[in-house]
Amino acid sequence: MLLIHCPYCEEDRSELEFRWAGEAHIARPENISAISDEEFAEFFFLRNNEKGLTYERWRHIHGCGRFFNAARDTVSDRFLMTYKAGMPKQPVPETGASEKTVETYEATEGDAR
Ligand SMILES: [Zn+2]
Repeated sequence: MLLIHCPYCEEDRSELEFRWAGEAHIARPENISAISDEEFAEFFFLRNNEKGLTYERWRHIHGCGRFFNAARDTVSDRFLMTYKAGMPKQPVPETGASEKTVETYEATEGDAR
């Protein structure tokens, strides 16, 4: 089961308590009546849908009910971090776990060749 950290409840909860709410950090045009139909369509309908790191809005619908932002890797489906709504886009912290232990196999006496 996937656990998601709610930045308001400050605990990891089951993914079943959350609902995806679209791409995060989409700025509404300041004077929306002055933009063209094409610009409005781009703002309203078009999303990046990037592979890899993406910033999304999520809602703790079966918990505190609040919206928050999350940085998620769409390839591994890992949540890299979550932070409160209204905060600017946060850089993803270094995990420090990039060094993988490489296991090697050494042939011993009796191994078939
Ligand atoms: Zn919550």
